[in-house]
Amino acid sequence: MKKPLVDKYGRVHDYLRVSLIEKCNLRCRYCMPENPDWTPKEELCTTQELLQLMDLFISMGVSKVRLTGGEPLVRKDFDVILKHLAKKEVELSMTTNGLLIDRHISLLKDNGLRKINVSLDTLIPGRFEMITRRTGFETVMRNIRHLVDEDFRVKVNVVIMRGMNDDELTDFIEWTRNLPLTVRFIEFMPFDGNRWDDEKMVSLAEMKERISERFEIMKLEDGPNDTTKHYRVPGFVGKFGIISSMTEHFCGSCNRIRLLANGSIKNCLFSTNETDLLTLIRKGEDPEPVIRSVIWKKKPSHAGRFNIAKQENRSMVTIGG
Ligand code: SAM
Ligand code: SF4
Repeated sequence: MKKPLVDKYGRVHDYLRVSLIEKCNLRCRYCMPENPDWTPKEELCTTQELLQLMDLFISMGVSKVRLTGGEPLVRKDFDVILKHLAKKEVELSMTTNGLLIDRHISLLKDNGLRKINVSLDTLIPGRFEMITRRTGFETVMRNIRHLVDEDFRVKVNVVIMRGMNDDELTDFIEWTRNLPLTVRFIEFMPFDGNRWDDEKMVSLAEMKERISERFEIMKLEDGPNDTTKHYRVPGFVGKFGIISSMTEHFCGSCNRIRLLANGSIKNCLFSTNETDLLTLIRKGEDPEPVIRSVIWKKKPSHAGRFNIAKQENRSMVTIGG
């Protein structure tokens, strides 16, 4: 067994989030600019390269792998990647916009991918089109139902933006009255091209206050590496949570490493530094010492950036949330 991947603050990194693909079948305004600059195909990992890198991380103690993107289900070799990972000793999960779930449900079940986060920012059909610049609301709703009926562990990610969908906070919670899923409200984060501004960001404190005006809420216990603060409305089947990346970060317990579709790694979502592992493996070099050094140098919080809103970062679609 190799040494675990630790940083100089003693945080063990055993959770790999892999962005399988930059491309997406939606165009969410908070995530990507209208016309993104896609990376040329030859600069992206082939199936074999991606599997090689993922295997290396697993050999270094990664025990949880989340597949994300872009939209992971748009990747043509998704089945090959999933079947490969299903043979490893890792807990698998995925973040998806939910549009292509129906045609993948058996594949997911057969290969033990049971934890699925679906992004859905509104319960109003017309608003879905406004936010995502595409159609598909009914399909996503149907697919969420399907996942719940098939006993997947479903979380619905909602990025809350003032003036866009903040009036739906309590409607989302009402939705969990009889539905066994967790709705997670995410504070809007700044990335290139998403027109973030302070005013549009609704904080955890404000969300809680506004929810409490309609519902009695109960705090639940959170897990050790949890990015979400969990709550329940007594009597409701589902739960809700708030991800406060902006106002109350959770960097102290961070165990995440991000592998991008171009074979680079980021030691923090907000880090502007990326380390290219693809070139190393194409030259036949061993990336392990480089990976260890990148993790070792991780900053204590938010990649050491004092004001993350003022600095450039890739758009989220190319990082993988
Ligand atoms: N396409 C998949 C999806 O939408 O779930 C996976 C990729 S998406 C980049 C991953 C997550 O990042 C989504 O839950 C999305 O809501 C979140 N996200 C994207 N841009 C964000 C932003 N500016 N602030 C907060 N969360 C964001
Ligand atoms: Fe695509 Fe997900 Fe970004 Fe929306 S949030 S544009 S679905 S990657």
